Amino acid sequence: MSEDIPFDRSFDLPPGKVEEIYPGVRRLLCNNPGPFTFKGTVSYIVGRDRVAVIDPGPLDEAHIKALLDTVQGETITHIFVTHTHRDHSPAAARIKAATGAPTFGEGPHRAARELHLDEAPRLDASGDQEFRPDTALADGDVVAGDGWMLEAIATPGHTANHMAFALKDSEILFSGDHVMAWSTPVVAPPDGAMSDYMASLEKLLHRPETTYLPGHGGAVRDAPRFVESYIGHRRGREQSILSRLAEGEADIPTLVQRIYIGLDPRLTRAAGLSVFAHLEDLVTRGLIVTDGPPSLGSIYRLRG
Ligand SMILES: [Zn+2]
Repeated sequence: MSEDIPFDRSFDLPPGKVEEIYPGVRRLLCNNPGPFTFKGTVSYIVGRDRVAVIDPGPLDEAHIKALLDTVQGETITHIFVTHTHRDHSPAAARIKAATGAPTFGEGPHRAARELHLDEAPRLDASGDQEFRPDTALADGDVVAGDGWMLEAIATPGHTANHMAFALKDSEILFSGDHVMAWSTPVVAPPDGAMSDYMASLEKLLHRPETTYLPGHGGAVRDAPRFVESYIGHRRGREQSILSRLAEGEADIPTLVQRIYIGLDPRLTRAAGLSVFAHLEDLVTRGLIVTDGPPSLGSIYRLRG
């Protein structure tokens, strides 16, 4: 993978052990490591005594128990969800059942655009189709709890319903899967859209928060600079696609081979989807063409 981004893969929190990473912010790791989840999903607890949970995680009994044990003697008053992938939102229903706390999020899982005929199964595979927030948040909405305030920041791209949450009067932004220190996220149609993703990165550049707490791995420090490197990385990938197509038309496997050197074989499919996301964006912008709507099987060429 490209190292033009100053990745930080240090993250030593063992699953089930709570850690206060910032005054009034605790984190807890779920034991669901993998090529897309790094060490696992990180759930956050904001506040003291009357607290919010951000991203309760997957349907993992040990993690749900650990979350509830951590806040024993306290009250969960709010449950926030950054987005509806299965490693982030499904436990919300269980935490709500146990505590009565209402859920907050942008909305149900949905595609970033109209589906092509063969795409519905892919949308279903990673998405949590059950989640419906009790309160649907819009960009800029502020939710106030006991001693904390969270501002919802619509950050579509990784999913259409992705939200980040800024902790008011602090340097902290909970970035979900939008920006992470250990890796770039998958941006895969039809869940995700590269044009939305890039716009959501630009949006964060203008915000004051300097430390991001992501859904996987450790904190992102010097966050605006890091976001800049994320943007540069995606632009570089776009350039690689365009320069390969300048040599002649190509399909997605050919482009993946050219762009991703030394790719973890488990990530080949994801890399193909990520290239597809770029291609969709480039077609929309009129830089490249293909026959019919862009799809995973299409042949792409520069606009002549
Ligand atoms: Zn995700």
